[in-house]
Amino acid sequence: MINSDMLSFGKERSAIRELFEKGKELKQKYGAENVYDFSIGNPSILPPRELFDTIKNLFMVSKIVDVKGKNDVDVEIESPNPNYQYRKLSTNDLHGYTSAQGDEEVRGAVANYINEKYSVSLDKNLIYMTCGAAAGLAITLKALISDPNDEIIVFAPYFPEYKVFIENAGGKCVPCIPNFNNFYPDLIDLEEIVNENTRAVIINSPNNPTGVVLDDKIVTKISEILDKKQKEFNHPIYLISDEPYRELIYNDNKPFTFFTKFYDNSIINYSFSKVVSIPGERIGYVAVNPKAENAIDLYYAICGAGRASGYVCAPSLFQFIIPHIINKKSDFSIYKNNVKYLYEELSNIGYECIYPDGAFYLFVKALCPDDKEFSKKALDYNLLIVPSTSFGVSGYFRISYCVKEDVIKNSIVKFKELYNYYKNK
Ligand code: PLP
Repeated sequence: MINSDMLSFGKERSAIRELFEKGKELKQKYGAENVYDFSIGNPSILPPRELFDTIKNLFMVSKIVDVKGKNDVDVEIESPNPNYQYRKLSTNDLHGYTSAQGDEEVRGAVANYINEKYSVSLDKNLIYMTCGAAAGLAITLKALISDPNDEIIVFAPYFPEYKVFIENAGGKCVPCIPNFNNFYPDLIDLEEIVNENTRAVIINSPNNPTGVVLDDKIVTKISEILDKKQKEFNHPIYLISDEPYRELIYNDNKPFTFFTKFYDNSIINYSFSKVVSIPGERIGYVAVNPKAENAIDLYYAICGAGRASGYVCAPSLFQFIIPHIINKKSDFSIYKNNVKYLYEELSNIGYECIYPDGAFYLFVKALCPDDKEFSKKALDYNLLIVPSTSFGVSGYFRISYCVKEDVIKNSIVKFKELYNYYKNK
């Protein structure tokens, strides 16, 4: 017998992956330059230069140690991170297993960096290195869900994989509706849907798919509601802050709100995929707030979920790279230009959307109520855009503008034709 839940997760595939595959097909047929693929959040810009230097340096150091068989050759290489030195790792260390939860020194470097930057007090012993944010979410949810009635609240529109990870962990995904004028969560709805079965709330800022960055005011209000509810129901309600776009903010007046400062029962889920443009390398971490209730047991449960899911020891090479580049990011000016151009051009045509403060997505109103139909029609114009039903709301579409400038410039005429099709219908 085959597990029917897994079979349907596999067969259904995400709408985003589906479009991504469709894009490959269209590119073969019409030529890549004639297809406008806005389907997936795959960074289009280079990682920071220091990433390549670090890879080279790590190999140099490890090779010399290995060839000599002992650490008798001193190779002095300066790290791009002044607070961290190159460690002499043998080739076997570099490519071998680390501790299941990640190398201790790497976890220490992550904690030190975050503590200094955000004036918090994370503990390396409560950090688990993961294969990206996806694995981090999957094991955190597995650690929190223990009963089929357990509920996890997600703020719509939300990253579609949340539902998959929640259901895989055996719980129920409960969406909270947004205010459509700013895509902040509707707090009245939040108050109503939190109940005795609520185990956690997932928050994602900057947001995929809207690009919205939550400010201190709304985060304070969310924290107050959850605090009141956990007292009412007499059990912790954890806040999982999913932060793969943490540094990807364009608006200086909207700094990132560090959630553990606002709410003790919080868990950070981070990924280096988008910020240093390495999604294929699969590296990130989960950090349990030391002030969280049962923090140590919660951490052990996350370790256990990692073990049970086969997610132990995130890729070693990239673990060892992280401390050196933790203070670096890709040059986001291209994304900033892309969104400015796209927003202005689409608004001039007549499309409606709010200007995003971060991430690399634009969430636009579809020109007919059925967003799936709209996205399908867009394929006739070689435009690959994701229907919003995938994100738990209807009537919108998502554009991933982490693409080359040319793709954006050349797509405008197609967006205009699509607009005219609906207006003249
Ligand atoms: N969370 C959100 C909101 C995302 O947009 C993504 C990827 O697009 C992930 C998690 C998964 O990221 P990773 O590539 O690090 O697994």
